Amino acid sequence: MERYICSVGAHLHYNDILIYRIKRRRKGEIFIMPAQSPESKHFQIEPLADGVYAAIASEQGYAICNAGIINIGDKTIIFDTFISPNAAKDLLKAAKQLTSHETASCVVNSHYHEDHIRGNQVFPPNVDIISTTWTREAITHNEPKEILWEKENIPQGIIDAQLKLAAENDLKRRRELAFLIVYYKAMIKSHPQLKTRLPNITFETSKLVIHGTQRTVELHSFVGHTASDLVLYLPEEKIAFMSDLLFINIHPYLPSGFPERWKESLSMAEALGIQTVVPGHGPVGRSADLSVMTQYIQSLENIVAKMVKSGRSIEEVSLQPIPSQFETWLLFFDNFFVANLQFLYRCVARESGFSPV
Ligand SMILES: [Zn+2]
Repeated sequence: MERYICSVGAHLHYNDILIYRIKRRRKGEIFIMPAQSPESKHFQIEPLADGVYAAIASEQGYAICNAGIINIGDKTIIFDTFISPNAAKDLLKAAKQLTSHETASCVVNSHYHEDHIRGNQVFPPNVDIISTTWTREAITHNEPKEILWEKENIPQGIIDAQLKLAAENDLKRRRELAFLIVYYKAMIKSHPQLKTRLPNITFETSKLVIHGTQRTVELHSFVGHTASDLVLYLPEEKIAFMSDLLFINIHPYLPSGFPERWKESLSMAEALGIQTVVPGHGPVGRSADLSVMTQYIQSLENIVAKMVKSGRSIEEVSLQPIPSQFETWLLFFDNFFVANLQFLYRCVARESGFSPV
């Protein structure tokens, strides 16, 4: 008989769990994990409530982004599928181990970026993949170009990053470069087996609700990090899987998106009453992390606005120091801070009719 352990330390047998689950269904503060928690070199499982788990990407593995496993009673929902099919196979295995379901019933793709969708192909054909219509189209158009670009550029990128790492003494920078190499390797090692699997269920409304026998899941469609970002929200437990609308302790990537809409989306998400947040990258956080993300965007916008006003060039903007509040944040995917400044510079220059030099 399978043994389980609950967060307060009591050992229970399966029959006990059925009773325990009924007793504790209302709140997520005490919940049950199998005594043998799923293990993968690609991610760590973090229980958030009974039947709700975050899969937090490890720095040495090929997950790269975070994912979610949500048991809604009659179904298991997977939120995002990592960059590598091999990491996604472990996610599928973990979902089977953590729920009573033989396989996931549906997968949600939060947005089109490669690190959130390339595990789609490992899910059986009868597993539905859900996204917005915009995201499906973006995957269709972007993936062939993106894969081609990676095949042409990533091998050299690995050599360059390895040379930088060999010459680097700063511990934070070494950690960032080591992760960059892992990220690049996760891409090129999965290229030979990649088969882009598109979402088969799409929607265009701002909200889609999935009613399970034990809990309800809301998918909220926002604009910000891209033109379409899905947040998976559990209204009863007040847990939100934010995808890349939220990075925690890591510089986010602004250039695919719309900074003003992003800030609006974060405040709309906050208004849902969220308590626990799972970012697209970084550790699990609290609702206060949403406003920190807004502060990051605003802070960079302020730097750029000031520089454009005083007629500075894009090169000068690129040399600006990281604001002290975000100094400890990791530059995990090469220098997103500079990329963000340059993107905002072009946005502001375009809006003000200023010609960037
Ligand atoms: Zn993204």
